[in-house]
Amino acid sequence: MSNPISLFEQELEAIKAKGIYKTERLISSTQGREIQTIAADKKEATFLNLCANNYLGLGGSKQLVDFAKDGLDNYGFGLNSVRFICGTQTIHRELEQKVAEFVGCQDAVLYSSCFDANGGLFETLLNKEDVVISDKLNHASIIDGIRLCKAERKLYENNDMEQLEALLIESETSRIRLIVTDGVFSMDGVIANLSKIVELAEKYNALVMVDDSHATGFVGKSGRGTAEHCDVFGKIDIVTGTFGKALGGASGGFTACHSSIADLLRQRSRPYLFSNSLAPAIVWTEIKVLELLNKGSELIAQVQTNSKYLREKLTEAGIDIVPGEHAIVPVMIYDEVKAMAVAQKLYQEGIYVVGFCYPVVPLGKARIRVQVSAIHSTEDLDRLVAALKKYL
Ligand SMILES: *Cc1c(COP(=O)(O)O)cnc(C)c1O
Repeated sequence: MSNPISLFEQELEAIKAKGIYKTERLISSTQGREIQTIAADKKEATFLNLCANNYLGLGGSKQLVDFAKDGLDNYGFGLNSVRFICGTQTIHRELEQKVAEFVGCQDAVLYSSCFDANGGLFETLLNKEDVVISDKLNHASIIDGIRLCKAERKLYENNDMEQLEALLIESETSRIRLIVTDGVFSMDGVIANLSKIVELAEKYNALVMVDDSHATGFVGKSGRGTAEHCDVFGKIDIVTGTFGKALGGASGGFTACHSSIADLLRQRSRPYLFSNSLAPAIVWTEIKVLELLNKGSELIAQVQTNSKYLREKLTEAGIDIVPGEHAIVPVMIYDEVKAMAVAQKLYQEGIYVVGFCYPVVPLGKARIRVQVSAIHSTEDLDRLVAALKKYL
């Protein structure tokens, strides 16, 4: 009999042989516009950070640390319980109501992560009489969540509305049809066609679920997400999202929806029922972040201005990007080896970006995914454009 550990070692070797083995850079600073990393020789170096989901720049900010300290002082470190036993504080309900209102829904349920929100959604609502109609580029957590439910799964090509309509027509006899999409497709920075999706859902009496992880807080005029951007705010049946990106970057997620769906999730959603209550410091901080955004934070306009600026400058420089409006700006390099080499060169210049290759993106579609933040200056963005020009 073979030794299981040696089997795992063989698998690791195979991953390395394919050139897709991931290593992690060690960061010795807080998150921010600039970060310090520590190399193997223990040398610290400073980098301009263009690969965080820190769209509003709140991650690593003193303001959020202060909010969190208040949360710790007033509500403690943790609750040692799931929500339905003794893990629901007043602030948990307050955040649920605030986040629901922010994204245009009646109620919301908190989770430890958006991965869990998606993991606990489909199985709770759907059974084998139902159909899930899902965009092919949807996030891994949606794919896994759908796998857990007994509904039939139908897939359409990314943002292909004709195919979506055909799938709605062919599933007309099913009990519930749920259209499922990322609000923003994270490898392309492309926004889902929610106005058309909502129109089709109304026509065919289907429900719509949007995972707005890469949008809540900064997409749309007042940062309420892709529904606001697409002029269908308040018309999405289920919105899932994360507190781990624009809203601060610690952790936590939510499912916002009709109050009866929220109630059902509280009865039956397994990651909600069987996992610990979200830490009070995070809950309190998120209440404060939403209050900030409700007042109309200038950070929302700033990340949108910065994204537009970078997209214009890259295009002027003749650099190939995936067109769009989002703060995720994919610089297309196509060749896998070249993409990794360019990312490495930028790193040597003190600019931290990441190259994405197969299997994360299709073969021959390698890219450097740049992520813009409200806290980047135009000089920062100019520096990136100049460096890319030099190495492309
Ligand atoms: C980041 C992301 C998630 C995971 O969110 P966590 O709160 O970190 O678990 C889920 N869905 C999408 C679309 C994401 O981009």
